[in-house]
Amino acid sequence: MFEVNENNIPLVPIQEDFLSKKNIELYLLREDLNHPEISGNKWRKLKYNLKEAKKEGHTQLLTFGGAFSNHIAATAAAGREFGFETIGIIRGEETLPLNATLALARENGMTFKYVSREQYREENKYDKTFIKSLEQEYGKFYIIQEGGSNALAVKGCTEIVHNINVGYDVICTACGTGGTVAGVIASVDRDKQVLGFPALKGGAFLKDDIEQLLTAYTNDLNSEVENENWHLITDYHFGGFAKVKPELVSFIKRFKKEHHILLDFIYTGKMLFGLYDMIKNSNQFDDKRIIVVHTGGIQGNKGFEERLKITI
Ligand SMILES: *Cc1c(COP(=O)(O)O)cnc(C)c1O
Repeated sequence: MFEVNENNIPLVPIQEDFLSKKNIELYLLREDLNHPEISGNKWRKLKYNLKEAKKEGHTQLLTFGGAFSNHIAATAAAGREFGFETIGIIRGEETLPLNATLALARENGMTFKYVSREQYREENKYDKTFIKSLEQEYGKFYIIQEGGSNALAVKGCTEIVHNINVGYDVICTACGTGGTVAGVIASVDRDKQVLGFPALKGGAFLKDDIEQLLTAYTNDLNSEVENENWHLITDYHFGGFAKVKPELVSFIKRFKKEHHILLDFIYTGKMLFGLYDMIKNSNQFDDKRIIVVHTGGIQGNKGFEERLKITI
């Protein structure tokens, strides 16, 4: 069993000429180093769900994801580490040999059920009759929604900022379903600016989702989050989820070469590309200290490199 490192996350200063010219300090919070397989924010999101599942006496976790999903990979690894059977409902048809994500999830003991894109649609996959049929097939399970965002996930993500031991002005994180940024929003002081960088098109929907997650979290807590000091930066999705462009690939390559830190293609690469672009093209960050959360996701790079026939 690997220890999950949640309290000793490195905060790494990133040196770049264009940053020092503008008197900007940028730090990368290396959440990606918290565990080799339950990497980054996926651990934060699972942590209290695992506790809840144990408390409710469950022995199985069931969740949903695409064939390259970081969440699927993390849930399988967490199941193995913390003694749950795991079932992954995977969108689309089985492709053999399994890609790197699913191969590792299988090694970690996950059982897969492939469902059609139609069945996978939001209104179908959480449909009561479908869930009942899954219970008949597998027995009782603790269900974790696709991407794992719920009030307990937000609670886990509030702990991300506990590792920041310097003062700062701005904190940035990449967004998929918004659970991670919701946790950051709920936990930072109001004088700090929170920027979320969606990896998908459609930032307006996401804003609503984040507000709902914040409400769910604060209702659980019986308190309020008044922090209005957050924005979504919707210009850097590169065409949508899992879409890449050559300039993103070269950015990730250069970053690795110069800083010896890997970024992923879906989330952290796009976010940092976007932040650099904004810093270069405006003065809004001049003289500020910025924290960028590295939420992990490196396991997904293998699939991209195979698909794009590149090596980073
Ligand atoms: C899943 C994921 C995100 C998005 O997290 P949400 O809570 O769904 O917004 C960001 N970065 C990485 C690396 C991820 O794997």
